Amino acid sequence: MRKKTLEIHIKGRVQGVGFRPFINRLAEKFNIKGEVANTDYGVFLKITGDISHLEKFINAIKNEKPPLAIIEKINIKETEYKEYPAFEIIKSFKTGKLELEVLPDVAICNECIKEIFDPSNRRYFYFSTTCINCGPRFTIIESLPYDRENTVFNQFKMCKKCENEYNNIKDRRYHSQPNCCPECGPQIFLYDKNKNLIVKGKDVYKKAGELIETGKIIAVKGIGGYHLVCNALNNQVVKELRRRKKRSNKPFAVMMKDIEMAEKYVFLNEKEKEILTSWQRPVLLCKKLKKDLLKETSPGLNYLGVFLPYTGFYFLLFKFIDFPVVCTSANISDEVVIYKDEEIFQKLKDIADYFVIYNRRIVIHNDDSVGMVVKNKIYLIRRSRGYAPESIKFRYSKKKILGLGALQKNTFAIYKNNKIILSQHIGDLKTVDTFKAYKNAINHFFKLFDFYPDIIVYDLHPEYVNTKYRKELIDKEVEEIGIQHHYAHLLSCLVDNKIMEKEKKFIGIAFDGTGYGIDGNLWGGEFFIFNQREFKRAGHFDYIAMPGGEMVIKQPWRMALSYLYKLYKKEAIKFFNRKETEFILKILENYKGIYTSSAGRLFDGVSALLGICINASYEGEPAILLENTIDINTCNKFEYEIEERNGYYIVKYEKLFAHILDLINKKSKGEIAGMFHNTIADIILNISKKLREEYGINEVVLSGGVFQNRYLLEKSIEILEQNKFKVLIHRYIPANDGGISAGQVLYATNKEKQSIEKF
Ligand code: ZN
Ligand code: ZN
Ligand code: FE
Repeated sequence: MRKKTLEIHIKGRVQGVGFRPFINRLAEKFNIKGEVANTDYGVFLKITGDISHLEKFINAIKNEKPPLAIIEKINIKETEYKEYPAFEIIKSFKTGKLELEVLPDVAICNECIKEIFDPSNRRYFYFSTTCINCGPRFTIIESLPYDRENTVFNQFKMCKKCENEYNNIKDRRYHSQPNCCPECGPQIFLYDKNKNLIVKGKDVYKKAGELIETGKIIAVKGIGGYHLVCNALNNQVVKELRRRKKRSNKPFAVMMKDIEMAEKYVFLNEKEKEILTSWQRPVLLCKKLKKDLLKETSPGLNYLGVFLPYTGFYFLLFKFIDFPVVCTSANISDEVVIYKDEEIFQKLKDIADYFVIYNRRIVIHNDDSVGMVVKNKIYLIRRSRGYAPESIKFRYSKKKILGLGALQKNTFAIYKNNKIILSQHIGDLKTVDTFKAYKNAINHFFKLFDFYPDIIVYDLHPEYVNTKYRKELIDKEVEEIGIQHHYAHLLSCLVDNKIMEKEKKFIGIAFDGTGYGIDGNLWGGEFFIFNQREFKRAGHFDYIAMPGGEMVIKQPWRMALSYLYKLYKKEAIKFFNRKETEFILKILENYKGIYTSSAGRLFDGVSALLGICINASYEGEPAILLENTIDINTCNKFEYEIEERNGYYIVKYEKLFAHILDLINKKSKGEIAGMFHNTIADIILNISKKLREEYGINEVVLSGGVFQNRYLLEKSIEILEQNKFKVLIHRYIPANDGGISAGQVLYATNKEKQSIEKF
């Protein structure tokens, strides 16, 4: 048989996933000799074998790759024939082109779980058990390439046994960088709030379980930060946690022991089970069996955020308890999650009773991801642990771009080598600590990905701290591009759907709380015609006063009055009389403040008007409660009016509110809430039809935080599709402001001549 020698470059997520041992196994199987190495480009092979075997070998690489590997490209070149005596793994080398992937954090795998429950195994009851197929990655990597000395495990010298595993190509822990055991790795401790050591090592889980069972609140060091954990069945302790965290109603995520336990509280379809047990293991919003189950965790809601254990600690904890636990990010109000040991006792001294800590550093914070299943596919609301910083291959451009993101639910994004990398969830940048964490994360990404931007993209809102301080975030002059908030929302949905055609036009519907509009008003109920180069505003909800400015977010009843004022002027007092009504009506009479076209504010106003949420305790609460009030058998909708004004379709409020007021005492709240949602979906359809007629465009993009509303989203898709529209929605990039940075980056990729990718 004829033999030849090949050089093969494999690009993608091929390091830290057991790729070289996998190659080694295949080489043995097909009797191929040569060498394999990690490079800063990916994996490099130089191999000699029979021609037919080489072909099978290459197919097997593609088809049988390790679970966490992603192959983006295999480049094969024949080279001068060379005889090799064997197949071996050789030392990593650098080609000078750093282009590596950083793996997201991975849930502990089944093989490792088996070991921690096996009394004869040396990792029995060891919380930090990992292997090549599982464990933390993004939160332990300080720099690339992914070698042990570049991770926080450089502090731990492997014992003989661990080293043998690490060096044995047949072992599941071959080159597993965080490899360790109870003898040589990190140790776990349980302290009380005065830093007195209670127990350590194997005794921690049982003790922690007892404390949780007896109503204590425990801070637990996880993968990307601390959690606060307590008994979800104990309403009193959940209330106490709310009091201490100053978080009155915002739902808490609940960790379930397993699918079986979860099914005692929520309905799960096959897709939801698949996602809950995936290695990303996000929090998933699932429908409760009954609305009042685990009431304190999710007051007034039909849905509960549930997730399953994903670290050794949580599996071991559930060996000793048999009830669900509240498991929420350890932070104060909405600040960034705490992940530094030195801060934990100080910052949580009034919140946690006990602390579970291990002596291994977390490089960077990374919250739990949150999503839901919509039309049988995932729909992420927060893209973080398990998903970030996975890259999204998108377009070919040589520029390096930094998208600063929005202010709330912030993520930023970098673009380099044809890939967009979204940061983990950072949060609301309004607080000092969170903004500090944002700057820290940007610097970390610059270092980790060897990145520096040529272009920096910002939101047009002049008061966003990241927009304001963009020059401080980087230390040299770069090109700056501002982009309108809702346009960025819509573009982020195109990234999510991998739409490459720059000129292709879409109907864009961007509904959210607020974003800065180019006319100086606050936009948020927008209908656009757009492509990747430009947008045209084609319609919007009518402008409405926000009496008290930002205060309307916390006090949605002010918005209710504002809509009523449009209809009845001072007579509005007849329909909505509160202590402050006259005062607000006075403000409205001489209104000089800012106007908004926000769809989010409309949901707020209706929610307050129905008495469902008069004052909001967290962002989005009025709309969420309104959605949760819906009587799903409602088919009717309200009357409304669309006016053509200055070339825009304007959704008017007068007729809509007149109809709501007419029915408010005649129908149930559930029916009115249902009718209202049906009306909004109908407005979406109605204007889409007008725009299709006018522009000949048939594809509709739905983006913005309002589309976290499951009922509205599904209803809109349903009726648009019935009317032969093609509908694009979000999946892996959040529809809310957490996706803005991806849209910003996409826009800037068009700001230059395109180049053809070279390998
Ligand atoms: Zn494992
Ligand atoms: Zn060891
Ligand atoms: Fe937004």
